[in-house]
Amino acid sequence: MINTSPDEGISESEDSRCTQYGRARFQLAIGEFLTLVVTLLLLTPTGFSRELLEWFNSFSAPRAATDFLFLVTIGLITRGVVFPFQWLNQYLLDRRFGLSQETFLAWFWGWICRTTLYGLVTILCLAPFVETLRWWPWLFPLWAAAFLAVRPLFIDYVQQPLQNLFYPVTFLRDETFSVPGIGNLTLPVYLVKVSHRTSRADASIRLKGKKSAIFVTDTLIDAFTDGEERIVIAHEFGHLYDHFHLESQTPSGVAQAQRKIVLGSAQIGAAAVALLSLQLFSTPLGLSGAHDLAGFPLAAGVAIALATALSPFVYREARRDEQDADRYALAATGDPANYVSVMQKLRRMNLEEALSTRWSRLFYDTHPTYAERIRMASEYRRRLKPRSRRASWRGWRHIQRHGRR
Ligand SMILES: [Zn+2]
Repeated sequence: MINTSPDEGISESEDSRCTQYGRARFQLAIGEFLTLVVTLLLLTPTGFSRELLEWFNSFSAPRAATDFLFLVTIGLITRGVVFPFQWLNQYLLDRRFGLSQETFLAWFWGWICRTTLYGLVTILCLAPFVETLRWWPWLFPLWAAAFLAVRPLFIDYVQQPLQNLFYPVTFLRDETFSVPGIGNLTLPVYLVKVSHRTSRADASIRLKGKKSAIFVTDTLIDAFTDGEERIVIAHEFGHLYDHFHLESQTPSGVAQAQRKIVLGSAQIGAAAVALLSLQLFSTPLGLSGAHDLAGFPLAAGVAIALATALSPFVYREARRDEQDADRYALAATGDPANYVSVMQKLRRMNLEEALSTRWSRLFYDTHPTYAERIRMASEYRRRLKPRSRRASWRGWRHIQRHGRR
C-alpha cells in the first residue's frame, strides 16, 4: 500500500532543493522578460533607433538592405541584453544543481545556432511586412495569416531537422491505447537522445493527423520501469484524447477549445494594437507613422508586453490540459502506484516543479504542482480504483464527467 501524502518519498532537503531551483528559474525568467521589454520600449523614445536607422541610411545602399541591417542590429541588441539571464538560467543553474555536465562551449554553440536560426526567420518574416506597411497598412492581417500558414512548414522542414542534429531521434516502438470516442489507437514512440547534454527527463506528443507521434528522452527510458513508462505514454495519449475527443465532443471541452482560439488570436491581435498605438502617438514620438521603422522596437516591446498579459489565461488552460492528460493516464492504466512513482522520479530528475506562488501561477506554471498531481492519484484511489472490469468503466465515466464540467 502506498502512502499518498503529497511529500511521500521526497525528503525535506530534496523538496527545498526543488523549491530553490524552481524559484531561481522563475526569477531569472522574469528578469529576462523585463530586461527585454524595457530595452525595446526605450530604444525608440531615447532616439537611439532613429539615429541607428539614419546611420544605416547614410550608406548609399537600397532601402530594403539598410532596413534589413537595422532589424539585424535590433535583434542582436535584444539577444545581447538577455544573454546573461539565459546563460545563468540554461547553463550555470543546471550545472550548479547537477542537471547538466555540458561544457560552456557546447552550450554557447547551441545558443549561437538558436539565435541565428530564430533571428533570421524572425527577420525574414518581418522584412516583407515592414517593407509593405508604408504602402498599405491593411496588409497586416494578410501577413499574420501567411505567418500562421508558414509556421508548421518551418517546424517540419527547418526546426525539427536542425534539432535532430543536436538531439538525435530514433524509433523506439509502437504503443497502443484505447481512447474513448476514438477506439484503439497505435502511435509510434521515438527516443530522443539528450543524455549527452542534460539529465532531465521529458516526453511530448506531436498531434498531427497520421503523423502523430510520441517522443521520450533517453534519460527517461533509462530511469523508468516498464510500468512507469506506460504511465508516461498514457499521459501523452491523454493529450490526444483531450484534443480529439474532449475538446470536440464535450461542452466544456468545446468551450475550452474556443477559449484557446480566442487567446491565440488575441496574442496576434496584440501586434495589431501595438501598431495602432504607434500610429496614434506617432507625433509625440517623432515618428512619421506606424510604418516608420524607428518605431519598430517600441511596437515590438508593446506587443510582447500585451501578449504576456494574456499568459495567465494561456497557462491556466495549459494546466487544465495537463490535468486532463493525467486523469486519462490514471483511468487508462488503472495504476496509481506507478503514476505516483513517475511524479516522484520527475521531481527528483528535473528538480523543477510548478512553484504555485501567486505570481508563478500567473506567468510561469504550465503544469499542476507535484502536490496537486499526487492528490489526483489519491482521489483516483479513493473513488475510482477499478476492482473489476465493470468498475473500470467508472474510471472512464469520471474522465467524461470531468470533460462535461
Ligand atoms: Zn502533458
